[in-house]
Amino acid sequence: MKVVTESGRSFVARKLVITPGSWLKPFLQKHFHISVNAEVWKVGYWYYDTCGSNAYEAQFGFPVFIDHSPLNMYYGTPALEYPNLLKVGAHYPSSTDVTADSRSLFLSPSPAIHSF
Ligand SMILES: Cc1cc2nc3c(=O)[nH]c(=O)nc-3n(C[C@H](O)[C@H](O)[C@H](O)COP(=O)(O)OP(=O)(O)OC[C@H]3O[C@@H](n4cnc5c(N)ncnc54)[C@H](O)[C@@H]3O)c2cc1C
Repeated sequence: MKVVTESGRSFVARKLVITPGSWLKPFLQKHFHISVNAEVWKVGYWYYDTCGSNAYEAQFGFPVFIDHSPLNMYYGTPALEYPNLLKVGAHYPSSTDVTADSRSLFLSPSPAIHSF
């Protein structure tokens, strides 16, 4: 198989692994006329201000956590990625009718996440 990039470089290989993530369905359809049963889910994550408390920092023992309740599953990481911000993510889709190109990048947290 030979692949030519937009800049004109060419690569030859016996096999090609394609990993377009949430673009999988339109990519396969457009380039290979292959239809796959794939669904894009929109999920979100949010950052919460720790108000300067070091109790939420990994170095002081705050853990990675996950809530496996049946309805609204959430997970989170200590204030590590950004200073004084605890990351909490939803482990369920807010919508399943999106495409990689039509999704909006912003998502308001659901009331359930505040009660969590
Ligand atoms: C909110 C959120 C939080 C997450 N948190 C975690 C976590 O804490 N831990 C964890 O392990 N996973 C997490 N994940 C999941 C993780 O991000 C994905 O599983 C992972 O990124 C999938 O990798 P991928 O390489 O398959 O696809 P992607 O990361 O989506 O990569 C696909 C790439 O293909 C490119 N592409 C697509 N079409 C074309 C084209 N036509 N030409 C050229 N390039 C193209 C795209 O630009 C993209 O760079 C999270 C996901 C989300 C949405």
